[in-house]
Amino acid sequence: MTQKLCTVVICLFCAMTTYSQKKYSKRQIEKFKTEANTIIEDNKKKAQVMVDKVFSFAELGFQEVETSKYLTGILAENGFEIEYGLSGIPTAWFAKWSNGEGPVIALGSDVDCIPKASQYPGVAYHKPIVEGAPGHGEGHNSGNPLNIMSALAVKEIMEQENIGGTLILWPGIAEELVAAKAWYVRDGLFDDIDMCIFTHVGNNLGVSYGSTRGTGLISVEYAFEGEAAHSAGSPWRGRSALDAAELMNIAWNYKREHLHPLKRSHSIFTDAGDQPNVVPSKAAIWFYFRDVKYEGIMDMYALANDMAKGAALMTGTTMTSKVLGTAWPRHYNKVIAETMYDNIEQVGLPQWSKQIKL
Ligand SMILES: [Zn+2]
Repeated sequence: MTQKLCTVVICLFCAMTTYSQKKYSKRQIEKFKTEANTIIEDNKKKAQVMVDKVFSFAELGFQEVETSKYLTGILAENGFEIEYGLSGIPTAWFAKWSNGEGPVIALGSDVDCIPKASQYPGVAYHKPIVEGAPGHGEGHNSGNPLNIMSALAVKEIMEQENIGGTLILWPGIAEELVAAKAWYVRDGLFDDIDMCIFTHVGNNLGVSYGSTRGTGLISVEYAFEGEAAHSAGSPWRGRSALDAAELMNIAWNYKREHLHPLKRSHSIFTDAGDQPNVVPSKAAIWFYFRDVKYEGIMDMYALANDMAKGAALMTGTTMTSKVLGTAWPRHYNKVIAETMYDNIEQVGLPQWSKQIKL
């Protein structure tokens, strides 16, 4: 963990010193990097406490109330200005600290967790702390604490050395629901940012540039409406919305065989009726359609729309659809990736030993 932190810190430094008006020698930059390393080493306990605390909050997307309060509290104490409730999302925030003219660098990472993933830390099988409760199954408890530690270390040196620039920290709210980032972009929150460094937990230190591994997606819910009736007394009077949702699902499952291997799709029923003796008048199915290219995602979306219309026609029901979120395929910057890679080599990987206790 400390290694990852150092890498982010060192990358921040390279950016500050490269883009600042003032020119810094290679030797000065190396000195700043060493200082940053020392600050991180001295504060590693704080980083661990933050990571564990966010893990214990384990809040689902759009419900990151305690997590946001805790993280912004630390940033505010350290002189950052916080803007809350961005893009109409109550738990969203941007934290900003400026030391005058210079590059504007943003650090982002996700904060939400996953349903039913409550888990004791350090246990290699599913052992919930609270049965059925949400948990940090994807490690979103670690990114923001590490970004905060990095930013505070860099801030300390920027003040000491009078290096100009602005640091911004922001959380990926409800990332599992592909929610906040598209709204942030739409609202221009990244317009004046020179560089955005995003971090996510992994099983190694890594960077990439250009198109990356992984898909973009569109999240769509299809809702059907029919006519309720008693399933035994007068089923002929009913028009089942659930039949429509099931038929759409079946159609999409037939389509799967003919999807390119780089495409992915998954679905759940969000409304499947109330009880067996009532023909369901309402039903809904929620899909994620994924591809490595925007065009591929939109092709799948168009196909699914046709299937939903077909399912409604077959069952005499009506259909409405709602886009719940989007996340388009990512594109990473080569200069940042190469700079970060050099620093990864300099910092090295963690040295694990049997003595390390979780
Ligand atoms: Zn994630």
